Amino acid sequence: MDFNFVESDEHRMIRETVEDIASDYDDAYWREIDGDNFPHEFWQDCADAGLLGTMVSEEYGGEGMGLEEFVMITEEFSANGCLGVGMLFVVNIVFGTVTLEANGTEEQKEKYLPGLVNGDLNWAMALTEPNAGHNAPEMETFAEEQDDGTFVIDGAKQWISGVDRADQMLLAARTTPEEEASKRTMGITLFLVDPQDAAIERRELDVGIPTPENQYELSIDGYVAQEEDIIGTKGMGLYQLFDTVNPERLTGAAGTIGIGRYALEKAIDYANDREVFDGPIGAYQAIQHPIAEEYTELQAARELVRKAARMHDEEYDPRKVAEVSNMAKLKASEAGHEATDVALQTHGGNGFSREYTVIEMWKGTRLSKTAPGSSEMMKNFIAEHTLDMPRSY
Ligand SMILES: Cc1cc2nc3c(=O)[nH]c(=O)nc-3n(C[C@H](O)[C@H](O)[C@H](O)COP(=O)(O)OP(=O)(O)OC[C@H]3O[C@@H](n4cnc5c(N)ncnc54)[C@H](O)[C@@H]3O)c2cc1C
Repeated sequence: MDFNFVESDEHRMIRETVEDIASDYDDAYWREIDGDNFPHEFWQDCADAGLLGTMVSEEYGGEGMGLEEFVMITEEFSANGCLGVGMLFVVNIVFGTVTLEANGTEEQKEKYLPGLVNGDLNWAMALTEPNAGHNAPEMETFAEEQDDGTFVIDGAKQWISGVDRADQMLLAARTTPEEEASKRTMGITLFLVDPQDAAIERRELDVGIPTPENQYELSIDGYVAQEEDIIGTKGMGLYQLFDTVNPERLTGAAGTIGIGRYALEKAIDYANDREVFDGPIGAYQAIQHPIAEEYTELQAARELVRKAARMHDEEYDPRKVAEVSNMAKLKASEAGHEATDVALQTHGGNGFSREYTVIEMWKGTRLSKTAPGSSEMMKNFIAEHTLDMPRSY
């Protein structure tokens, strides 16, 4: 199934590299990948080809390219059956390299970026809390500044991916109580913490969908952070996090589009082969039209994702980048999941067999309608900021 109509020579070469790596790993390989079974060989191939450092400056060993190339890489891997890639890239590459490039100090960049580029370091990011989901300013995790300049952090986080394997974790904590902050979005600071420190206790969540990273609830009790562990400016963490969450959303969105493409490709093969009455089921319009519709929806979603990524790379007004990123994420989540649903229907009963992988894709793409950032919150943002309608909450 051809999906690439217009592309530059540079993008074609990147895509061919991705296809070449992906061809070494089949569905059976990816079915075995989960939080306890990391795809080491695949990750090393990505590092060797320079893909993990796509968005990292050349001085730290990266390729010095942009988010547009990175979302393309994520989509193409997913479209070639590498189903865990969206989450693996978000957790390790976006949370790590994008955050450091945007807001890290020179020392932090020198210390961590080369290890992220060559695949030696793994990352995690802890924002979500049990009592503050989408309402992040309500977070209760607090970092109390001490007389000696250190910070003692206490609190709880929930749904944090990959903490067991992470070498470093980005942690958002209040450093000024909400009632004393000039705005409720101020007074939050980003810290780099050691997730394996004894002050951070983790409990694995029992997750009902396939994920390549384990998910955790954390309780943080007296973690001591140094001043040099702060990323960016004290009190400005939530604003700095926007530099990370838009790329996070777009990378996740690209992964979902790719999975949708892979599901449709399987649906087309199956439909052209499967005969129930006279001739293949793919000859029926009831089978063809939903596939044609979702192919078109995925193409449209990709255009939005690439446009938002290009705006990010060209440093457009951050508010505009956020607006288009939210539209892209909304469109990609809906189109990606719907494509897997159409593929499932096309496969009949076989769609529910793990052997065909379609049911795994259906479960996996459903996540993107909820996280990172739900479809409802994308619509809230578009209504309020793009359409100038009253804030509804
Ligand atoms: C597999 C997985 C991995 C994750 N990994 C990470 C991670 O690594 N790090 C991290 O920090 N977080 C992570 N998360 C958390 C994720 O980002 C949140 O679950 C997600 O943002 C939703 O927050 P919540 O679960 O608290 O939902 P809530 O905020 O409680 O929302 C519940 C429902 O209410 C709706 N809702 C809430 N407010 C409004 C409103 N104003 N208007 C309309 N609807 C509304 C939401 O859309 C949603 O449908 C992960 C989650 C999952 C499931």
